[in-house]
Amino acid sequence: MTRIVYVNGAYKRYAEAAVHVEDRGFQFADAIYEVIEILDGRLVDATRHLARLDRSLRELGIPRPMSDVALLQVIDQVIRRNRVRDGVVYIQVTRGAGPRDFALPPAGTLPTLVILARAQRKGWSAAQAKTGIAVKTIPDNRWARCDIKTVMLLPAVLAKDEAHRSGAKEAWFVDPNGNVTEGASSNAWIVTSDGTLVTHPLDHHVLPGVTRATVMDVAKAEGLKIEERRFHKDEAIRAKEAFITSATNIVMPVVQIDGAPVGDGRPGPLARQLRLRFHHVAEFSAG
Ligand code: PMP
Repeated sequence: MTRIVYVNGAYKRYAEAAVHVEDRGFQFADAIYEVIEILDGRLVDATRHLARLDRSLRELGIPRPMSDVALLQVIDQVIRRNRVRDGVVYIQVTRGAGPRDFALPPAGTLPTLVILARAQRKGWSAAQAKTGIAVKTIPDNRWARCDIKTVMLLPAVLAKDEAHRSGAKEAWFVDPNGNVTEGASSNAWIVTSDGTLVTHPLDHHVLPGVTRATVMDVAKAEGLKIEERRFHKDEAIRAKEAFITSATNIVMPVVQIDGAPVGDGRPGPLARQLRLRFHHVAEFSAG
């Protein structure tokens, strides 16, 4: 349960935590966010998450609300005040509040900063990983800058809903050529018959996942081959294994795509290996 939320300089009770009705995050989705895993009271890969937060802000010209050192202190406070040992911390920065206007607000408008932490039952994703998940492919109808982690998530919300209604846990976005770009809230991977890991290259069509980067570190340390290239959804269905990566799922095996089994329809050995090694390679820091 979230009890305390940081909003613009103050620690508020959950029920009372609020931003202005003319906040640009609310009016225009003029905002970016990050989700960081908390494991055993420590932050996982905070350096990479804060670097991406900084990049998202720079790409959109939203001023930094505070330094990384200050941000880490607030994150630490939020985690402590909510007594979270295992869960996630959510950080959102908007371009601030002001009379609704498409034009950017005057220089000096303070960005809005919201930070909350939420406990999650330890091991839920490990339990899920034992059986794996189904995914459904859906046309990618998002904008052309999916590399920026904005809160403009309506296409992902609707895609996930469509996936859920068909019994799948995640949606895989597919471009007009039938290639899988990424999941609605995850990066998408397959394993070819010769054991090569394949994921979409980093460009404007996908988010540079932090888990994706750390899984690459794990794969290199394990001597696995990696190819960053496009892959068609038909190749994914015929692949030896498939999986998704995200800060909340870590490495989650995909056992079914559009109702067709991947491999023998059970989680594959490489996905399991990457998942088991992940937290040995990821960065842990005080939270
Ligand atoms: N792609 C999208 C569209 C996402 O929303 C996410 C999760 N935020 C990811 C990829 C995975 O990113 P990360 O590993 O940093 O959680």
